[in-house]
Amino acid sequence: MGGGVELTLQTVTQELARRGHKICVVGPVGSHIDGVPVVEVPGALQTTAQTQARDLPVVMPHRSVLAAMWDYARQVQDQYDVLFNIAYDWLPFYLTPFLQTPVAHFVSMGSLLDVVDDAVVQTLERYPGTVGMYTATQAETFGLGDRCRCLGSGVDLTRYTVGDRPEDWLVWLGRLSPEKGLEDAVAAAHISGVPLKIFGRLEDAAYWEQIQRDYPEAPVEYGGFLTTTEQLQSVVRRSRALVMTPRWVEAFGNVAIEALACGVPVIAYRRGGPSEIVRDGQTGWLVEPDSVAGLVEAIARLDQLDRRACRQQAEAEYSLTALGDRFEAWFQDLVTRYGR
Ligand code: UDP
Repeated sequence: MGGGVELTLQTVTQELARRGHKICVVGPVGSHIDGVPVVEVPGALQTTAQTQARDLPVVMPHRSVLAAMWDYARQVQDQYDVLFNIAYDWLPFYLTPFLQTPVAHFVSMGSLLDVVDDAVVQTLERYPGTVGMYTATQAETFGLGDRCRCLGSGVDLTRYTVGDRPEDWLVWLGRLSPEKGLEDAVAAAHISGVPLKIFGRLEDAAYWEQIQRDYPEAPVEYGGFLTTTEQLQSVVRRSRALVMTPRWVEAFGNVAIEALACGVPVIAYRRGGPSEIVRDGQTGWLVEPDSVAGLVEAIARLDQLDRRACRQQAEAEYSLTALGDRFEAWFQDLVTRYGR
């Protein structure tokens, strides 16, 4: 559906398959992933957690795809060492004690719903080591401090070319949805006069229309959803910087490491995942959260950053090898502790 989870899943499975592991991805009908077999399961999707109030109960839709996928996993679990859950859903946590094969839960979002949070914490208490997160600040939103395994994310660096001759515009990448705070990036473009190109899935059309009404003069342009990494990197690498303005505690922010892979610095609020990724003053600027003035100031200081340092950081921390090592060690640990 064009979010960061899809990219993380692609990257992890691609690298583990390359290392010789047998992998099968189970996903809703229409799912595709390069180089790994996919079992496509029919059924209705869950409502996304970020659109719901914190105290709502879990709702299972009629003919739930989530339930069907875990029923499939139950049936084939004997053939695998580990079941890998990459999501923020209640059901797989609840089902864990009923399964014989260990489940590695990689939580894809920060705390949003009480009922899911409880399931995450209870699973961790019952099965230490089985809960992974993108970042420490994400784990902190569950009050879990350093009790989770922080695995970050990664990208196939061969798919991203460094752009050393940037053009005079900024880029914003992400779902057009209130938690992503696009209006602040638009406001900063308006004040600084530096154009902003926006790409991503139009998740909330009314939200985007409101931003256009609020900033009719801003030098911004929405270019739609870039469907492939090739398209995305060919745009990003020509920009002066990626601007990230999330309102929520972003669990990670895959777009940040995609920009770094292109040698593009990142201006981001000092909040959530991006605050752990960006090296302030080297590979980007971290800005006081929700401060448009701070964004404008950071844009004015972009020339102080070295684009080579951005690519170097991506190579050191977010390569396929670095990511594969982290996930392989985690899965190995679970097999040792809980394997049959
Ligand atoms: N993305 C994309 N096309 C676009 C804009 C974004 O494919 O036009 C992808 C991008 O590659 C990244 C994801 O959308 O993998 C956004 O992930 P991120 O972790 O930044 O945020 P999330 O959507 O998971 O909250």
